Amino acid sequence: MDEQVTSRRSARIQAAAPFRMLFGFLRRRAAQEDARREAGVLDFTFGDPHEMQLPAYVEALREAAMPLDDQWFAYKQSEPAAQEAAAASLERVVPLGWTGANLRMTTGGFGAITVAMKAVADPGDEVVYSLPPWFLYEILAIEAGLVPVKVPALQPSFDLDLDAIAAAITARTRIVVVNTPNNPSGRIYPPATLSALSSLLEQASVRHGRRIWLVSDEPYNRIVFDGVDFHSPAQFYPWTMLCYSYGKTLLAPGQRLGYLAVPPGLPETEELMDAVNSLQIAGGWLFPNAVMQYAVPQLEELSIDVPALQAKRDRLVSALREMGYEVTSPEGTFYLWPRSPIPDDEAFVAELERRGVLVMPGALFETPGWFRICLTATAESIEAALPHFAAALKAVRTEPSGQAERSPLGTSL
Ligand code: PMP
Repeated sequence: MDEQVTSRRSARIQAAAPFRMLFGFLRRRAAQEDARREAGVLDFTFGDPHEMQLPAYVEALREAAMPLDDQWFAYKQSEPAAQEAAAASLERVVPLGWTGANLRMTTGGFGAITVAMKAVADPGDEVVYSLPPWFLYEILAIEAGLVPVKVPALQPSFDLDLDAIAAAITARTRIVVVNTPNNPSGRIYPPATLSALSSLLEQASVRHGRRIWLVSDEPYNRIVFDGVDFHSPAQFYPWTMLCYSYGKTLLAPGQRLGYLAVPPGLPETEELMDAVNSLQIAGGWLFPNAVMQYAVPQLEELSIDVPALQAKRDRLVSALREMGYEVTSPEGTFYLWPRSPIPDDEAFVAELERRGVLVMPGALFETPGWFRICLTATAESIEAALPHFAAALKAVRTEPSGQAERSPLGTSL
């Protein structure tokens, strides 16, 4: 008898390096929760809220939960009012003439990326993305039966390496994923890059006789600083599936809400949207719950305080630079991506952790030598962490070997 209980697919997912590292990290963190609280640890790891939710957000959900008819809590797919409100709002960020028919509501960005991949790619097809990536692309690709193909971004600018992307494309490539504004680098790719990428994808599609789709993962497209112009890849390449999550702009990632949109005018829209819808059903009813969808028109009016986030970015970037860190000021998102002062980013992260400051090593993003600081922490936490960032830097600079003692992620609190 075959003793294997779980599927090979689930085993592959659990064995994927980003999954193992990330969820191992989360498990250890959870086990240390009480110690962390007592020790007053300063947590800059995940894009989770650190303050009470916006009252207007809570009010929108409260109102949406009040039934207005007997079908209020019936099975819902994509609610037309939510689609229309989302399309009108997207139009202000990416002006392409969107209507509700161009998008489908999903369970956050995760849900949108999942159905986007499955809607156009078949098992065995390749999906190309840049490193450092959002750490879960790999498992979403594996779960869809796809083959992840990773292309390092240019360092230290963390711009897309278009030549390397072109070289990575084969006859099996079906999807290229682009994440702008980028988590973790904070880069917003300029129009020239997106335009060159579009030509590259068009030429490769023609060469291989098969359309390459672009998945544009842009949950941070409203979190941009200094009035920088954000451009979506969808404005340059029509065969783009734009994936959005409300989890960032509203800093409520536990309330699973997002959408997948394809640009108006794409001849394949209806076919694609039918595929998306059937995959949502077959995936286990991957639609946001009814209450979240009713709230969309009101939620679209709300946002976290982006100027306050920018002020936190400015404070931390200038303080870190003064100390001697190398850090590029992010153009968007809520992350900072400094270079680790020693090549071993995990050792440096452990050095910070010994001082009660939690950040994420570049290793988690398959990009050693860097680390990520999340700016959703409070301004007070940032102030409190500054002496520790300075002390950790000094410590690794004065170590005789130039290397801090290495300790496994999350174990040294
Ligand atoms: N893409 C990127 C780049 C992200 O940073 C995240 C969330 N960290 C997601 C997708 C998924 O968003 P959500 O959890 O809201 O579905």
